[in-house]
Amino acid sequence: MNIDRLVNPRSIAILGASENNAGTRSIVASLESLGFDGPIWPVNPRYETLFGRPCYPTLKDLPGSPDVVSFRVGYQRVLENYRMLPEVKAGGAVIYDGGFGEGGDEGKALQAEITAISKEFGIALCGPNCQGIINPHARSTTSGQEVADVAKLQGNVGFVSHSGTMCIGMMTDTRRFGFSLVVSSGNEAVVSVADYVNWLATDPNTKVIACFLETIREPEAFLAAVDRAAAAGKPVVVLKVGKSERTRRAITSHTGGLAGEAKVFSEVLKAHRVIEVDDFDELSEVLAVCQGKVWPTGRRTNLITPSGGIAELVLDVASAAGVVMPPLPAESKAAAESVIGHVGGDGNPLDAWGHADYARNLPHALKVLDENPICDNIVVTMEGFNYNPIKRPPLGYASQLSEAAAQSKKPHYVLNMRSGLMQVEQVDYLKERGMVVLGGSRQGLMAVDRVARWNTPLPPVRKSAAKSAAVTIAGRSTVHEYDSKALLAACGVTVTKEKLATSLDAAKDAAKAIGYPIVLKAVSDDIPHKSEYGLVKVGIADEAALASAWAELEANMKKVGKPVKLAGFVVQEMIKDGIEMFAGVSRDLEFGLTLAVGFGGIEIEITRDFALRPLPLREGDAEAMLAELKGAARLGAIRGKPAADVKSLARAIYGLADFVASNGEQIEEIDLNPIKLLPEGKGCVVVDALIVPKK
Ligand code: ADP
Ligand code: MG
Repeated sequence: MNIDRLVNPRSIAILGASENNAGTRSIVASLESLGFDGPIWPVNPRYETLFGRPCYPTLKDLPGSPDVVSFRVGYQRVLENYRMLPEVKAGGAVIYDGGFGEGGDEGKALQAEITAISKEFGIALCGPNCQGIINPHARSTTSGQEVADVAKLQGNVGFVSHSGTMCIGMMTDTRRFGFSLVVSSGNEAVVSVADYVNWLATDPNTKVIACFLETIREPEAFLAAVDRAAAAGKPVVVLKVGKSERTRRAITSHTGGLAGEAKVFSEVLKAHRVIEVDDFDELSEVLAVCQGKVWPTGRRTNLITPSGGIAELVLDVASAAGVVMPPLPAESKAAAESVIGHVGGDGNPLDAWGHADYARNLPHALKVLDENPICDNIVVTMEGFNYNPIKRPPLGYASQLSEAAAQSKKPHYVLNMRSGLMQVEQVDYLKERGMVVLGGSRQGLMAVDRVARWNTPLPPVRKSAAKSAAVTIAGRSTVHEYDSKALLAACGVTVTKEKLATSLDAAKDAAKAIGYPIVLKAVSDDIPHKSEYGLVKVGIADEAALASAWAELEANMKKVGKPVKLAGFVVQEMIKDGIEMFAGVSRDLEFGLTLAVGFGGIEIEITRDFALRPLPLREGDAEAMLAELKGAARLGAIRGKPAADVKSLARAIYGLADFVASNGEQIEEIDLNPIKLLPEGKGCVVVDALIVPKK
């Protein structure tokens, strides 16, 4: 849908306008203070004039087609007026009131009718249940919230929010960045976040896009829009609320139960180059970093501080936040010390106070870091603004900083350790010189790192060749272990040696061929979790034990208590050693198939230590997932125990991904649990597998 007239209106009608109505008053006042130069048309049969302008009895009496109609009428009168929009050739509308889609049946029906009119006639509706749209470049607003700080409101941040209050919160602080568009999108009956992001992706005034989201109503359209923004060189920063790890459907596999919405959402965002933040502080700092003339392109950050205490604090904070801070190389440290005197620690942060001649030391430290080959970003901590008494202004150290930044290709930042502490003169002075002041050590340093990561290209999506085995998936409730393993083996996943037997004699022959000890299990689509019914016998050492295990399984089959179609008992090689891992696939309602890997067995229930990616995987995903497990160290060599064969597990993960690439349409969930991960060089073996077909 074309939303141009909605977000960039040249004429605005206010339906139900009244001087007694606060919403109308603030729209008119804001349009006047913004300097909107198009017509403002109040519509209300009760008045001849309003706000010193002619007032029109109905929309049909307007002297032209309104680009947007602001609905200030009561709920009952919305529909009759909405029906006039096509006739008066309105481009868009804003409905502020709640009680539509989120209300009862009547509200839902009303919203459905409005939506149908909008879609048929291409009327871009913002809301219902929203605050409207402010476009500082068009000098327009349909927001019921009066704009303040008009002089600084214009900028390059496009902000789309499900919460109108967050729009107010954002516009309250224009010290470091202004806006190209501020949208409170409400219920999104017609125009969704995806549409706004699409518009912002091509809007020349927008450099960075921020979204405050409660839900994603059109996941595919949203991802297509963020891809478009990324391709246009604009980061999309997302703050998503409501991240509780609930699941909303019946789950058969373990993997299905694990992959909560929030984790899936985060990983999907990552795969689409979105910068996800956890709170408003982080959001503001990322938007601030995007105001710099030079953006971070590498992740290695070096700091300069005037204090040993601050140096220690910032190092603690930065390490906890995962910021990359390599120590100062020996040559750089020596160069720093030639002027500053002794430098403590490893030189990052670089405490440049030295003999207290900071006005001499700071420019020198800046030069050293500019020349340091393993430093991408230079951050100078300052508490507020220190008017250096020796070196007179302009603004003391700020001039030294901006001079150094001007000589350098690296981005330079001022970091106030405390968020909110910011001297406007300092901010303005540096802003004019293309530099950014950050507030809050944790979120400030993370913001630099996040933009650096955004600038690092993602590895390409892996290509999988189609592979298939002669096993049918369709129409089955679940695909039992034996068939699931055959399917995976065809994709190069190593599974246990095994044979399906339907008689004890056949089982004995199979066991002889495979070699004792063996494992015996019941195989049936109707029993996805075998040990629940005592249908797994491990460590069968000889033929006698096999015979009694067979009898035991037969007895337990009788106790299952539901009709079961048995394929047979599987005789399986016993994998004694190895770390039990799991890998699996599940289908998210919104974002489709994802792959998870983690520690198997009971462990996963307790620690929930697993990594997840949307499918298809990108190159390097399997290795990266294993490295990001909290317990990753357990896979390495510890206390004489050899390291696990992590490479083989990565290969198994890619095999699983290949299987999904060929059969994804048919898959709801997959569980490989456990996978026995053996010491380096010995590989890994899938011991149990379960495929749940898509209904
Ligand atoms: P379930 O359907 O109940 O998940 P599994 O096939 O996973 O049944 O078997 C249960 C447990 O028995 C596994 O978690 C694993 O610890 C052990 N086990 C199963 N098969 C083997 C095997 N071939 N080698 C070693 N241990 C096994
Ligand atoms: Mg199992």
